[in-house]
Amino acid sequence: MKSMLFSRFFILLPWILIVIIMLDVDTRRPAPPLTPRPYFSPYAGGRGGARIPLRRSRPDGRPGRGLEKLNESRSQAQPEPQLPTIYAITPTYSRPVQKAELTRLANTFRQVAQLHWIVVEDAAARSELVSRFLARAGLPSTHLHVPTPRRYKRPGLPRATEQRNAGLAWLRQRHQHLLLHQRAQPGVLFFADDDNTYSLELFQEMRTTRKVSVWPVGLVGGRRYERPLVKNGRVVGWYTGWRADRPFAIDMAGFAVSLQVILSNPKAVFKRRGSQPGMQESDFLKQITTVEELEPKANNCTKVLVWHTRTEKVNLANEPKYHLDTVKIEV
Ligand code: UDP
Ligand code: MN
Repeated sequence: MKSMLFSRFFILLPWILIVIIMLDVDTRRPAPPLTPRPYFSPYAGGRGGARIPLRRSRPDGRPGRGLEKLNESRSQAQPEPQLPTIYAITPTYSRPVQKAELTRLANTFRQVAQLHWIVVEDAAARSELVSRFLARAGLPSTHLHVPTPRRYKRPGLPRATEQRNAGLAWLRQRHQHLLLHQRAQPGVLFFADDDNTYSLELFQEMRTTRKVSVWPVGLVGGRRYERPLVKNGRVVGWYTGWRADRPFAIDMAGFAVSLQVILSNPKAVFKRRGSQPGMQESDFLKQITTVEELEPKANNCTKVLVWHTRTEKVNLANEPKYHLDTVKIEV
């Protein structure tokens, strides 16, 4: 009897030891590091929130610190200068390519530190598609909507006027509130149509905007590019093939405005009344700056960092009139 107990004990002993060692190793394992979650939207379908930047790029263009470094530096008493937030206002409307366009845009914006995406739907209500999309986009975002009145939905008339103004109104409201509480934050605004192509370098350039900055735009105005002409660091004219008489012969994608300028000119908006085609940019910029004041970016406006690409209308000739597939798929 005694020998049987002994033999059982010796059979079990190594197993008991293995379990003890495993438990010990597990409790000593350090806690997993804080990593940004790939899909994070604290205000799904609603207002924006803060995100830990995946890459903290710096305005001087030097590579940013890694996340671990960032956490480490917080414990020291040296606060880093606040990186101005880039606010990108994107008007968008429902059409077959909408989700594809927004996907491409989000893939770019996700690589830019401290960017807040203001998406304004041209619609009577926020759509399910865009709400779901933003909730999973991995970007701080704000989702607004305002419909373009029917009478303005005609070829030849400017697009997205009401949507850009809604973005401006949101920005002013949010920051006036912060100003009142003495929590002013630096920021830069630019208008990012959903079908253009943006290089990452463009964001480094615009981040240092003091008042209003400008740069060339590719594939626009019937030419390979348009650009501000620069002499001794100042804008002195425009290289353009279309309506050279425009006070600011520049596309919507060719300028950025500091948040401070937006706030100190509370009445500056895009106008419907009296606005001729192609004059949206000039009408807006006239209200906030002068040509002499413009800050040329992109190596004195000699580099194209954004392209006014346009997406071909998709061919849906074979799309059935009624739903035929066994599943319903969002495209
Ligand atoms: N847009 C809109 N409603 C419309 C047409 C356009 O909100 O009825 C948006 C569109 O998604 C884009 C911007 O306005 O972000 C500019 O439109 P588009 O690219 O068609 O203009 P273009 O490139 O010809 O200036
Ligand atoms: Mn476009």
